[in-house]
Amino acid sequence: MQHIIDRFISYVIIDTESDANSETTPSTKKQWDLAHKLVEELKNIGMQDVSIDDKSYIMATLPSNVEHEVPTIGFISHFDTSPDFCGANIKPQIVPNYDGKDIVLNADKNIVLSPSYFKDLLLYKGQTLITTDGTTLLGADDKAGITEIVTAMEFLINNPEIKHGKIRVGFTPDEEIGRGAHHFDVDKFGADWAYTMDGSQVGELEYENFNAAGAKITFKGKSVHPGYAKGKMINSMLIANDFINELPHGETPQETKGYEGFFHVHHLTGSIEETVLELIIRDHNKKKFEKRKELIEKITKKINKKFAKQFGEDIVTAEIKDQYYNMKEKVLPVKHIVDIAEQAMKEIGIKPLIKPIRGGTDGSQLSYKGLPCPNIFAGGHNFHGKYEYVPAESMQKAVEVIVKIAELTAIENSARK
Ligand SMILES: [Zn+2]
Repeated sequence: MQHIIDRFISYVIIDTESDANSETTPSTKKQWDLAHKLVEELKNIGMQDVSIDDKSYIMATLPSNVEHEVPTIGFISHFDTSPDFCGANIKPQIVPNYDGKDIVLNADKNIVLSPSYFKDLLLYKGQTLITTDGTTLLGADDKAGITEIVTAMEFLINNPEIKHGKIRVGFTPDEEIGRGAHHFDVDKFGADWAYTMDGSQVGELEYENFNAAGAKITFKGKSVHPGYAKGKMINSMLIANDFINELPHGETPQETKGYEGFFHVHHLTGSIEETVLELIIRDHNKKKFEKRKELIEKITKKINKKFAKQFGEDIVTAEIKDQYYNMKEKVLPVKHIVDIAEQAMKEIGIKPLIKPIRGGTDGSQLSYKGLPCPNIFAGGHNFHGKYEYVPAESMQKAVEVIVKIAELTAIENSARK
């Protein structure tokens, strides 16, 4: 277990925060620091055809060790961390033999990771938890995934009696800003299908995700001295507020679950003259997704109409951009790739938790690029914030799942012949 903990920590202490405002790939130069390290490590454990391209996409091969033909499968994760929370100077804390009580992450700042708020913690009594020191995120999303893939490959290399087909490994930058798959060369990867190791709790297996769009809505205003403002001032912040109030109530991330979609207002900056509102739109159902985008247009029109006379031109403009789509459409025709993962979990005593992803992964875009790509748990919880943690045992289980999938894929095929 120490081996997997050490490997994980060696990754998370390297800052790889991505940046949505950057146009380059990777979006931040510092992602190269971990990328180069991973290339060296893949070579060191004995992987072949280890490559890194000019955009920091890493690929490597574990050759087949059987005579018969086996489909080539891939395992993928991302090495950037979310810009939602600080990813620099991460100081992981190890909590051995977790006793089920509050964990003080930071005594000075009174930051406590408590099972009374985060009930999932109680699943891991007696296990070794890795947490933050309360000032950063942890980066288990998705350095746990990378740890698991590297460790599983190392295990297969060291245990050649375990039979498997050709396995491809892919590590990407910039997943957290929605671009992880943008420059992923599916042809070069050359796998029949793949799995992202990017889920949360042990057992998670996902092949449905949101349809996703982002909207940037700009409100104009007119600043006038407040004492003389009657009938003249237009306060763009208040118009933005009206806009938000027009969104359906109860359809926010904090009020929805399962297959329920939402609007999520995630950024707002304003002055009297101009306010910019950014929100994301999410829905598993394609029709409802389109309806949600239409609603944004409708509200925009309604407000523009209201201010047409007073302002003279459109007072609100909405730019809506699609981000990714539900992978279900691409995975269902090759459902056996989900079944193999499910069987792998069962064979090693894990109860599969098959549920829709309330987000997206590299896999959703990859599935649309021709590489069907369900998502498997990586073990972490509370991603993108200071309460993020991962049990070492969960990472170990993910390693076992990867190994078992490799094994089953080789058997599956020979059985079919
Ligand atoms: Zn992730």
